[in-house]
Amino acid sequence: MTEAAGTATLESLLMTRSLSDPELLQASEAAPDHRILPDVTVLKVGGQSLMDRGAAAVHPVVDEIVEIKRSHRLLIGTGGGTRARHAYSLAAELGLPTGVLSDVGSAVAGQNASMLGYLMARHGVPVVGAAAFSTLALYLQESGAAIFAGMPPYDMWQRVPSEGVIPPYRTDAGCYLVAETYGCADMIFVKDEDGLYTANPKNDKNATLIPEITVDELIERDLPDLVVERPVLELMKHARHVRSIQIVNGLIPGNIRRAVEGEHVGTIIRSDS
Ligand code: ADP
Ligand code: MG
Repeated sequence: MTEAAGTATLESLLMTRSLSDPELLQASEAAPDHRILPDVTVLKVGGQSLMDRGAAAVHPVVDEIVEIKRSHRLLIGTGGGTRARHAYSLAAELGLPTGVLSDVGSAVAGQNASMLGYLMARHGVPVVGAAAFSTLALYLQESGAAIFAGMPPYDMWQRVPSEGVIPPYRTDAGCYLVAETYGCADMIFVKDEDGLYTANPKNDKNATLIPEITVDELIERDLPDLVVERPVLELMKHARHVRSIQIVNGLIPGNIRRAVEGEHVGTIIRSDS
């Protein structure tokens, strides 16, 4: 079907069918996908894994990112970390719902974005709030990089988890969704481990590194704990653009640059084999 014919079909289906009609959904897939910012790499700077380690971890990462932005365009999302966990524990003990925890956790990712912003200010890197995302393109063009708070702005509309009250879509998912929506070149999670292991290496000394795995294999293996939020895997299965992610150890100098330049330095998770 030509693009024009496809559009005509879609238009008539949209006027006559429900928005969950299978034929309508299929027709809405027909147009070729448009990548909005195809040459940008999204980096997530971990909350607990990096920011909470303070100056010793943060300064080298800031220096490395500032160097990389001379030649690559970067969107830098932030995690929450220990302060978010503290707030989740208080709110959960008070019997408050997921939507409230989500709201509270968001504030912490925002604080980390602010701090990174002040550290990178002299290099012209702005912090961009969710409401100002329409200006991202300009900032990237002018400065080569922009910082955002990684928590998706679901706040009290956060999806309720199947168990407990911890918001399932947190900063890993938020950063990934930015990369996917903008059709970015890559999504790199900068954390404090060499990648994904068979178990959390912080409390299982027999855990071994998995350098590369597909989403389906990973879901199938049903590991006890993961280095990225589980909903990211579900999001990846339906992705049109960002069909692989890499998790890298940001405590090792040079790793972020190597990953941005397409090298395999951590764990690569792919949507298909
Ligand atoms: P962030 O700082 O980005 O929020 P997290 O602290 O949530 O990152 O996630 C990274 C941590 O996940 C690692 O420091 C590690 O202790 C833990 N982790 C849990 N399961 C795994 C696993 N299977 N492989 C590697 N790390 C894991
Ligand atoms: Mg986390």
